[in-house]
Amino acid sequence: MLLIRCDWLFEAEVAAGAEVGVVTEAGVVVEDGKVAACGEFQLLRERFGSAEILDLSGCVVLPGLINAHTHLELSGLREQVAYEGDFVDWVDRLGQARRQGKKLGQWDLEEVVQQACVESLRSGVTTVGDVCFGHRVWQMLAQQKIRKVCFAEVFGLGDDLDEQRDYLNKCIEQTQPDELLTLGLSPHAPYSAQSGVYRLAAQLGREHGLALTTHLAETMEEIEFLVSGEGPWRNYLKKMFNWDGDFERPGKMPVEYFLEMELAEQDFLLAHVNYITFDELELLRGRGHSVAYCPRSHNFFGHPVHPFQKMLELGINVCLGTDSLASNSSLSILDEMRFLRREFPDLDVGAILRMATINGAKALQLDDKIGSIRVGKEADLIALPLVKKAADYGSNGAGVLEEVLDSEILPGMVMVRGEIVRQD
Ligand SMILES: [Zn+2]
Repeated sequence: MLLIRCDWLFEAEVAAGAEVGVVTEAGVVVEDGKVAACGEFQLLRERFGSAEILDLSGCVVLPGLINAHTHLELSGLREQVAYEGDFVDWVDRLGQARRQGKKLGQWDLEEVVQQACVESLRSGVTTVGDVCFGHRVWQMLAQQKIRKVCFAEVFGLGDDLDEQRDYLNKCIEQTQPDELLTLGLSPHAPYSAQSGVYRLAAQLGREHGLALTTHLAETMEEIEFLVSGEGPWRNYLKKMFNWDGDFERPGKMPVEYFLEMELAEQDFLLAHVNYITFDELELLRGRGHSVAYCPRSHNFFGHPVHPFQKMLELGINVCLGTDSLASNSSLSILDEMRFLRREFPDLDVGAILRMATINGAKALQLDDKIGSIRVGKEADLIALPLVKKAADYGSNGAGVLEEVLDSEILPGMVMVRGEIVRQD
């Protein structure tokens, strides 16, 4: 049993409408990988006299950060493909760079994935929602002491779904879930997976209790393809997938189209949702779907300001992702939080913390296990050193999160499921 002592503790989950739960002169008791108690340090010391003490005085302890949308298999392509204003062209060049890299043996996938995990943990990310194609990556991820939801990515615009069904069933049969690994399913996007693929994934998700994700409303080209059936996506898909071009255009905006598919009432994590009409926002509210906003990747592609604040106001669960290193400079959610703080200085720092923690947990359907510091939840925790003394931050600790977000400090301790995986 371990009793962690710290200056501040942010639980990151409280009753609706209240502030982020904050305790000063605080402690967390960790036993068997779980949070056994949390609150005031002195009270915990009296209650758990035999616990070994880990003294992190001068630090703030937060729930481990959650990167809800990434593609770790692309980590070898960090900033290698410049964006020149045309998304489909960028995807095309990304594919070329990937094939070229593989052919030339420029990077070893195993090493790339391992490094990506080390980098994530160092920055305080304890959980990743990783979208990838094929088993190899998640067999590699299984070796890493980071929590992960491995989303099996599936494509297909043709009528015949046998191949997709076989592939997804194989993924389900051959994946060994463990304490840190769960499987999820991911129809890629509405322009690369027809509605039958979505329905298949939703049905299998329901049968096997798997989380679901997809890319949605990411670009104007996607809207063009869904509304008119034409545009650069059509040409690219025909070229790349040997697709005959037979596709009944929905004639609808992406979110409206997605919501009208019959998806077995399964909740999806919708990556991006950069382009959404007012009517679609209204349709999305009150549903169980979450949105993964990837702030710096969004900025990389120069999309208009993301509607995440409106979504939060409407009660839509918005979490954070880095997307892949092909469109971002790091896998750090702390960097995303700091970017948000700079770009949206009026944004409540508690809201930024929730997007990076409990909202991500809900989106990945892991909120019964992680996302906040609660008795009974698993102990995924990070500690960051603070500059000032506890008393100098005021009683509600608002200045603590501001300091974390306005500085460049990194976690001095990272714990996953009760195990310290990094400590300075
Ligand atoms: Zn993505």
